[in-house]
Amino acid sequence: MKGYISSKVLENKKTIVCSRCILDNTVSEISFDENGVCSFCVKHDKLLKYYPQEDGKREEKFKNLIYKIKNSGKGKYDVIVGVSGGVDSSFTLHKAVEAGLKPLAVYFDNGWGAEIAVKNIQKITKKLNVDLFTFVVDWEEFKDIQRAFLKASVPCIDIPTDLAISSVLYKAAAKENIKYILSGASFITEGTVPKSWSFIDGAYLRNVYKLYGSKKIKKYPLIDLKSIFYYTFIKKIIQIPFTNYFNYDKKEAKKFLKNNYEWEDYGGHHYENIYSKWGFGWYTYNKFGFDKRKVSLSGPIRMGKMKKSEALKEISSPPAVKKEITAFVMKKLEINNEEFKKIMEQKCRSYKDFKTGLDALNKFKFIVKIAVKKGLISPVVYEKFFDE
Ligand SMILES: [Zn+2]
Repeated sequence: MKGYISSKVLENKKTIVCSRCILDNTVSEISFDENGVCSFCVKHDKLLKYYPQEDGKREEKFKNLIYKIKNSGKGKYDVIVGVSGGVDSSFTLHKAVEAGLKPLAVYFDNGWGAEIAVKNIQKITKKLNVDLFTFVVDWEEFKDIQRAFLKASVPCIDIPTDLAISSVLYKAAAKENIKYILSGASFITEGTVPKSWSFIDGAYLRNVYKLYGSKKIKKYPLIDLKSIFYYTFIKKIIQIPFTNYFNYDKKEAKKFLKNNYEWEDYGGHHYENIYSKWGFGWYTYNKFGFDKRKVSLSGPIRMGKMKKSEALKEISSPPAVKKEITAFVMKKLEINNEEFKKIMEQKCRSYKDFKTGLDALNKFKFIVKIAVKKGLISPVVYEKFFDE
């Protein structure tokens, strides 16, 4: 499948790389200050104020958070942990139990989980004696939604999964009367994915599916802005990027999980899921010229935990995704060669070409800002959706 390396968007455009991290102008919304520092580095520094990493300060924040969570729980559980079998969520679950929390682990099974990842979830929940709730998506319907995103020619092909995870987590929290949802996502270790690469929104999914899907959404756990506002302001459920609250070192965490839970490695960020592996490692790289590693490696560079030269060397060769995976993915999605060729060759589009909830969200920007100040919404969400 060579020859697709298009980056059609970038033809005749000089690459400008940030003077601090390795993000560049393949990100359409990026801007640079007079020192050549990119807007994502600025956002990173802003977020650090909310999640201080200085020894002492960080521990204090952690202690306060655990205290709040423990006091919020009235039932069998006091926290939800979304699990994928990957290192971040597995370690989050371990750390939650270690801190004395009573988690309910929730797994969204989208039909693409690698066998190793599913085994990891089983091993860790069993050893920690944590209940696991698995939501299995209706495969026929989900497959059609995934196909619609490919046909729409947008890079955000993991949105059907990410949105459903959010919906399933909120629903489980509301049902069990739990106020906190912990995730393993961290801007510190993996950066912030640009909006133009991965825009998440229920109205967007609905519009893409209306135009490119073949059925009506019936069972898929769609979540819209109204529901998110309901869970946030009425039910007061908050999503916490938990790994920002302690000194999280991915390599050390992997070692620890291997030694203590017989956890197995799968290689690559988000590679615990075959579709994500293909999406980030092959599809968006070859069709759009988006290299997700630039995002994830920029996190550690900003924290001084990785050298820029080391990261640049790492991205100098294409992501290690075997080409057979493309054939496997297409077979599973029932997309034939001709259709796939068309998908790869059609013009690249963005979320801006579709109806989204962004205009509505912008109207409520000030409310979201207040909610961030009051600790109801994570500032990570604010920084992702609003440009300032
Ligand atoms: Zn930067």
